[in-house]
Amino acid sequence: MNKRVYNFYAGPATLPENVLKTAQTELLNYQNSGMSIMEMSHRSPSVEKVMSSAEQSIKELLNIPEGYRVLFLQGGASSQFFMVPYNFLPKNKVANYLVTGSFAEKAYQEGAQIGQAHVAATTKELKYTRVNTPDEISLSKDVAYVHLTSNNTIYGTQWDKFPEFDVPLIADMSSDILSRQFDASKFDLIYAGAQKNLGPAGVTIVVISNDLLEISAQQKTLPTMLNYTTHAQKDSLYNTPSVFPIYIVNLVLEWLKEQGGVVEVEKQNRHKAGIIYDIIDQSDGFYQGHAQRDRSIMNITFRLQNEDLEKKFVQETADKGLIGLKGHRSVGGIRASIYNAMPVSGCQALADFMINFMRNN
Ligand SMILES: *Cc1c(COP(=O)(O)O)cnc(C)c1O
Repeated sequence: MNKRVYNFYAGPATLPENVLKTAQTELLNYQNSGMSIMEMSHRSPSVEKVMSSAEQSIKELLNIPEGYRVLFLQGGASSQFFMVPYNFLPKNKVANYLVTGSFAEKAYQEGAQIGQAHVAATTKELKYTRVNTPDEISLSKDVAYVHLTSNNTIYGTQWDKFPEFDVPLIADMSSDILSRQFDASKFDLIYAGAQKNLGPAGVTIVVISNDLLEISAQQKTLPTMLNYTTHAQKDSLYNTPSVFPIYIVNLVLEWLKEQGGVVEVEKQNRHKAGIIYDIIDQSDGFYQGHAQRDRSIMNITFRLQNEDLEKKFVQETADKGLIGLKGHRSVGGIRASIYNAMPVSGCQALADFMINFMRNN
């Protein structure tokens, strides 16, 4: 391949080409410093500037009200699965989980290992073909927090309207952060691994309310690195942060603003997803969507009549420079991940291929 492909991988995922070009230009000599940003002290003014710029952009793009901090942590979204209960699940309270997919289930399992955890709703018995309706949610007594996964990356479902509670609401938004508008003030903690919609792997964005930070400040027996307050007090510089991934995230956020921010990007995302869902819906069952409702605008999952045909689909798309379409092993079939940085032309190319493939098979 001597040109860039359309990359439909679920994560790490495609990045805006202009971001990669800027990084390339600045790689050897970052803004006349005579060195790469990778080689700089994390306490240098240049790096501090990148980090505060990224924090500001996230607050601005997500429309985050006063009273929240943005942190840049490591260990992936998976480390948030245990950091959340270690900080916010006291012995006499119960963590409540909405289990609507594999990552949601993993988050629940970590909670259950650390303290009392309750599945307040799940669609597991429906093979995660949708998320729950509000009337299916039943909270336990003495709720510490409710945890949900906004977009189920593997199954291709997504909460359209978020349920509301009068207890802290915590969300794993790894695979749809900054893809659509929502009311951030309804959440006490939002986290996202960067490698789907924000940048490369290696940094996890955490947006946390001061109310929750007051709770973690009371945790006296936690390892220092596991306490959110440590990172908030030191502006994510308690230890060496992953400077290069944060630098790329900052470039992606600038790119997002150039696109018109979340309002415009959401329009694009809905348009892009519609191009592919239309083909599925008009295919008379040749393509069968996994999601029955609550379809994701980020991860589109579908099956063909048999596995041989699916293999052929994956092979032929790859030959045409449409790569990463094999579904997750737990669902099988096809998954097209179309995050913010996937251009409309990529979705159109996939849709055109799907029409031809249906004709020929
Ligand atoms: C990818 C993903 C994760 C896992 O992220 P890591 O950074 O690899 O730990 C967790 N939750 C969701 C929703 C994801 O899509």
